[in-house]
Amino acid sequence: MTDTSSNDTRAGGDPRPRQGETLGEMGGIVDLGMPAPGGAFDDHNPPDSALIGDCVHCGFCLPTCPTYALWGEEMDSPRGRIYLMKQGLEGEPMTDSMVEHWDACLGCMACVTACPSGVQYDTLIEQTRNQVERHHERSAGEKALRGLIFALFPHPRRLRLMRGPLRAMQATGLDRALRRTGLLERMSPQLAAMESLAPRLGRPEPLPPYIDAIGQRRAVVGLLTGCVQGAFFPGVNSATARVLRAEGMDVVVPQAQGCCGALSAHNGREEEAQDYARRLVDAFDVARVDYVVVNAAGCGSTMKEYAALLADDPAYAERARSFADKVRDVSEILDELGPVAPRHPLEMSVAYHDACHLSHAQGVRAQPRRLLEAIPGLELKEIAEAELCCGSAGIYNIINPEPARELGDRKAANIVATGAQVLVTANPGCLMQVTSAIERSGHPMGMAHTIEVLDASIQGAGAGVFAPTPAAR
Ligand code: SF4
Ligand code: SF4
Repeated sequence: MTDTSSNDTRAGGDPRPRQGETLGEMGGIVDLGMPAPGGAFDDHNPPDSALIGDCVHCGFCLPTCPTYALWGEEMDSPRGRIYLMKQGLEGEPMTDSMVEHWDACLGCMACVTACPSGVQYDTLIEQTRNQVERHHERSAGEKALRGLIFALFPHPRRLRLMRGPLRAMQATGLDRALRRTGLLERMSPQLAAMESLAPRLGRPEPLPPYIDAIGQRRAVVGLLTGCVQGAFFPGVNSATARVLRAEGMDVVVPQAQGCCGALSAHNGREEEAQDYARRLVDAFDVARVDYVVVNAAGCGSTMKEYAALLADDPAYAERARSFADKVRDVSEILDELGPVAPRHPLEMSVAYHDACHLSHAQGVRAQPRRLLEAIPGLELKEIAEAELCCGSAGIYNIINPEPARELGDRKAANIVATGAQVLVTANPGCLMQVTSAIERSGHPMGMAHTIEVLDASIQGAGAGVFAPTPAAR
């Protein structure tokens, strides 16, 4: 990918900031109250000029940025993207090239972890994407693809309806036959990517609205069942409920819950994300729980940010804040309360893959590792380049299949190099992306969510349940 967007705004020199110079020092952007007229952004929450001014152009974020790792282009680094935001605030109109560089960002937030100056890139890219969706005219093909994705993925019922035809295709081998023809790939690489990511579907496992704790009750928790998690990985939700009750928690499963709005929030669909957030707050409010437990990293990171998402809504601002305070990733709550259920041995080696929205966005790294290491017989292995995204990133691997595939293959090589028998992660998107990349690598291994491993240990199921299934591709 090449940079075509950088117009020189400083006489006779490189328009980009020099090392050590803050973006704020480059033209009074910190003092800029509102975007300049004619520029890329309107007045409704433009990228925050003070946050942009925090960037000192040190470049520490560059090695952890997957798109910079792929292309080595400044404008496909966090620093470059922030610079483009500054240009937009100063009066540069929103160009196709600017949008291309912002679109190429995976939103993995590795740069937030790496930045020594505390630059809040997560807030900046979300503000920018909201503006892009308001002001950038996408091509008909892009609109149709995004329309399809958002008409499907945030709707658990529609996803569940897809299960029947998908299972039939998988059972008859039609999916593999279709893949071999390459027809879908020629028609649309994006649709082909969507098809190839679909996991092997098991039986549906609906959860009742209320599940009692085993033994003494230590907390009442509400469980988010999720859209993709609920439809494609129902076994993860069942395992979560079993582990929570075994650890002394009553589990409430609000039946009226829908999408948390994560995909919408991460893709500039601000109003849609706010609508989903309001409905989820309503659904869990009536359940009166101590905690809201999430087993999908992308959902958890968005739900923890509901206070900011609904800050301007007087009817929901306070409720959103108290809701967000209760949100915990399932590994956090289990680590916080400590174990009471006995663990049975699992004699196997496990490579743990940090989902970006768990590690970079929520700072949850130690808890899942502690839970896994506490299982007798289990050997935990670390993956090289752990901070680098696997390429899943919400809908990124559908919209940008080529770079996503490159990142997936790089991640798979690092996972295979650990020699582990099972790959464990905590996000349905990562599971689908890594499963597909591992299958391409030709080194079959078991795949599981962290909670499924804990469940197998508590139930005494043995390591055999994680044996790799025969390659289906
Ligand atoms: S969020 Fe990820 S892809 Fe985007 S700029 Fe930061 S490190 Fe790069
Ligand atoms: S590490 Fe932080 S301050 Fe340094 S260039 Fe990246 S975003 Fe800017």
